[in-house]
Amino acid sequence: MESLCDLLADIRACTACAEYLPLGPRPVVVADFAAKILLIGQAPGTRVHQTGIPWNDPSGDRLRQWLGMDREQFYADPRLAIMPMGFCYPGKAKSGDLAPRKECAPLWHERLLAHMPKVELVLLIGQYAQAYYLRDNFSTLTERVAQHPPNHRFFPLPHPSPRNQLWLKRNPWFDGEVVPRLRARVHRILENK
Ligand code: SF4
Repeated sequence: MESLCDLLADIRACTACAEYLPLGPRPVVVADFAAKILLIGQAPGTRVHQTGIPWNDPSGDRLRQWLGMDREQFYADPRLAIMPMGFCYPGKAKSGDLAPRKECAPLWHERLLAHMPKVELVLLIGQYAQAYYLRDNFSTLTERVAQHPPNHRFFPLPHPSPRNQLWLKRNPWFDGEVVPRLRARVHRILENK
């Protein structure tokens, strides 16, 4: 098997869907052999594309608040890996950004996962990651987030984007019940060195 270092170099050089990317390829992904918690979100926005730092935006601020983590821990702890459904900024849609490029996850996810055998918890953030990784009968993200088995390896979450403010307002059980459960699970894993 290729080394993780070589794989990350291949990802950084990827141009598989470059023709569709308005700002060109700039894959944003964080992987480490020590990873225990894996975050699978959608795709970088423009600010993440510009800085090359994952979750470096208001969505990231809310996500860190859900996790009960500050920026320092979020970026410094190698036990946290970040592998979105699309590694590069996909462009603007009429409302928000376009969907993550479909080529990306089938091309890279399995190969990256093979280098992260210690992952215990996978946060599926938003509908694209959930559609790719979960085969369940829930008809909406709301049902899934509310009813998914609590100790499963996969933990579905809504996207923490400010665009989802209304969803969070309409579903106060998420902040009241799911966030504390998420935080407790994350901290239990990270305390177990
Ligand atoms: S989005 Fe994924 S498949 Fe497309 S160029 Fe970036 S790394 Fe390659």
